[in-house]
Amino acid sequence: MSDVVVIGGGIAGIATALRLAEVGRRPVVIETRRKLGGRATSFVDPRTGEMLDNCQHVAMGCCTNLMDLYRRLGVLERMQWHPTTYWANPPHEPDRMEPGWLPVPGQFTGSFLRMRFIGLADKIGIARAMWRLLRMGIAGREHWRGRVFVDFLRETGQTDVALERFWEPVVVSACNLPSDRVDAPFAMQVFQEGFLGHRWASAMGLSAVPLLELYDPAEALLAKVGGQLRLGVSAQSIAFDGRRVTGVVTDEGFVEGAAVVSAVPFDRLAKLCSDTLKTADRRLQRLDQIAVSPIVGVHLRYPARVLETPHLVLPGRATQWLFDKGLDAGGRQHVHAVISGAEAWMDLPEAEIARRVHADVQWACPRAAGISPEEVRSVKERRATFAAVPGFAELRPGPRPDPRGGVDNLFLAGDWCDTGWPATMEGAVRSGYAAAAAIVGSGGVEPDLPIEPLARLVGLR
Ligand SMILES: Cc1cc2nc3c(=O)[nH]c(=O)nc-3n(C[C@H](O)[C@H](O)[C@H](O)COP(=O)(O)OP(=O)(O)OC[C@H]3O[C@@H](n4cnc5c(N)ncnc54)[C@H](O)[C@@H]3O)c2cc1C
Repeated sequence: MSDVVVIGGGIAGIATALRLAEVGRRPVVIETRRKLGGRATSFVDPRTGEMLDNCQHVAMGCCTNLMDLYRRLGVLERMQWHPTTYWANPPHEPDRMEPGWLPVPGQFTGSFLRMRFIGLADKIGIARAMWRLLRMGIAGREHWRGRVFVDFLRETGQTDVALERFWEPVVVSACNLPSDRVDAPFAMQVFQEGFLGHRWASAMGLSAVPLLELYDPAEALLAKVGGQLRLGVSAQSIAFDGRRVTGVVTDEGFVEGAAVVSAVPFDRLAKLCSDTLKTADRRLQRLDQIAVSPIVGVHLRYPARVLETPHLVLPGRATQWLFDKGLDAGGRQHVHAVISGAEAWMDLPEAEIARRVHADVQWACPRAAGISPEEVRSVKERRATFAAVPGFAELRPGPRPDPRGGVDNLFLAGDWCDTGWPATMEGAVRSGYAAAAAIVGSGGVEPDLPIEPLARLVGLR
């Protein structure tokens, strides 16, 4: 019998299993695909045979647990860090938002004042909102729970231009929902912890290798530290004897375990639980109330370089962000475009998606004038992430059994669990570390970046 059966080999499952194995437990990871990494991985495009990332996966300096996982996996150096955020402002050069010499939280002041894609009145409103976010502190954002972020933006007197060009691209990219749908504290967290607390927090981390190569090393590492991987095996149900879970029924037989960790998304978990198990454990009773939000990623091959910065925000456009994925031997540039909160794109045919995204690329990149992409591959993720709408936070279960009515050897992980974070790789790692700690009684989540002294003094604590 194995110590712990972990269902799901995405980031949350990898994080759980690694931490368990490191303290001498013997986890068995059951993963339906032949590779680890879940939603944050790569796939072979059947049309071209080429390896493509499912979508650009952006990390930030404030993702302390994700970086801890990458360090454990030995892949930290496969990340490239970009302290500067580039904002398209055609026909001019992109504006640059980057930390200057002023102490945090004023580090962006110089570059922010120089940015030209928004005007002075817009900037004054943005500064007013940032000040409010600092003053309310981390606890203060909880008072906004249940309200949408745009309420806060209206209350702080944002101009329409600031709303559309500054707030919206950041909020929708980080939370996968627009500011008139997202529960305000999720968006507030992005600005408080991602921009206002620590100089390094806002740095953007992009993988320099296909995403798959970030998680591949987990296979050998898990085996080395005593874990077991069952790739290509699907869990069908969690076995429950009326009091405790006893293991997992898979398409290749029963895997017995002293404890089970579910590290699959909420909708998959719902399918693995019998009605009896759901009745016995309160954490499983509201899984069907969690909604989802889609993302579209589009791979474009241009005959020559069109995007001149490593990445580019497209303020006010439907395509929110472009990423430079490099030139091939023939000098063709691979550009990856991302549309988050992409509800309206779900039923569009690929040709229309290509047309719209190319129009946005032409708007943002003067070098794209007169040329068209030679290849376009769009990837629609209808169920990309949970929808962090008002009310969602109350549906998120913690990793450990609920003392008011729970099955005491069933543990939950996954980005949708109660990590306090939006649907991110960082949230997935946190959930996995928390689940492992709930089982072994030690370890747990890594600390956040410390909030720098002036930001603390102003109120961010
Ligand atoms: C298009 C897109 C873009 C994104 N962009 C970003 C970004 O820029 N930055 C960021 O931080 N996050 C981003 N995310 C979110 C990020 O990918 C997720 O938060 C994270 O990968 C979730 O990890 P997880 O382990 O919780 O879940 P998953 O990755 O979903 O892992 C669950 C695993 O369980 C397996 N599984 C499911 N059912 C079964 C079963 N019955 N038996 C066995 N195995 C099963 C699945 O195959 C999967 O491998 C993005 C997500 C998407 C879809």
